[in-house]
Amino acid sequence: QPDVPATLHLNTLTVRFAGLTALDAVSLTVEPGSVHALIGPNGAGKSTCFNVLSGVYRATSGSVRFGAAELTGLPPHRIAALGIARTFQNLALPPHATVADSLLLGRHRLTRAGFLAAGLRLPSAAREARQHHDRVREIAEFVGLGDDLERPAGALPYGKQKLVELGRALCMEPRLLLLDEPVAGMTADERRQTAAVIAGVRDGLGISIVLVEHDMGVVMRLADAVTVLDFGRRIAGGTPAQVQSDPAVVQAYLGT
Ligand code: ADP
Ligand code: MG
Repeated sequence: QPDVPATLHLNTLTVRFAGLTALDAVSLTVEPGSVHALIGPNGAGKSTCFNVLSGVYRATSGSVRFGAAELTGLPPHRIAALGIARTFQNLALPPHATVADSLLLGRHRLTRAGFLAAGLRLPSAAREARQHHDRVREIAEFVGLGDDLERPAGALPYGKQKLVELGRALCMEPRLLLLDEPVAGMTADERRQTAAVIAGVRDGLGISIVLVEHDMGVVMRLADAVTVLDFGRRIAGGTPAQVQSDPAVVQAYLGT
């Protein structure tokens, strides 16, 4: 049921690596169509949380539910098929591919006709390819890359490359998007533009977003709810205003 809004529930999620508890019984809820920011100092467990949500790491204990679906223990492709897409902290774009081709990669999961039909040049495959190209163009325009479709993605300014990564995830038609530091390394202008795109993803497309981001200006402007992690534990949560004035948060960021 890909169009039904779904709530994401993390229930006492724990991830242990040899001798280290990267996530310690973390519970949180992401409401449909909201931006939920996950913040905390380096090593707090934010990327680990994304890796569990996307099926890259296995939880040691606890569970993850998305709508009616139990995600705990599912492999990455099954989680993607439920409509959960992610971007990575570091860019992973094929260096010579055009923006259009990079975005088309995101359509792979949605391709029905398959390579056989495409290879035989069946009309159904041609129709489907056209639909994918149309959607890629729409999404490129949505993220502000409408004029860059035929450029090599790797030759674009860094900020635009990050938008290609965001566009590729949107091309999967997700219900939930996991964004790992989407404005890291960007200029002030690029940050503003990207924040506006992310707000548009929530408000215009109704997609839920979990946002890991160090830029507190962006977090406080975009987030509907914030969870604060420190050494794998949830130390605070609430609205941006509540979290900003929480003494535990101030202490975690400034040290003792
Ligand atoms: P954050 O993204 O908040 O900076 P991470 O989730 O990357 O933090 O890391 C949390 C902790 O888990 C860190 O101490 C990190 O070294 C450790 N960690 C993360 N991934 C692994 C792994 N694959 N093996 C061992 N330790 C890991
Ligand atoms: Mg990280």
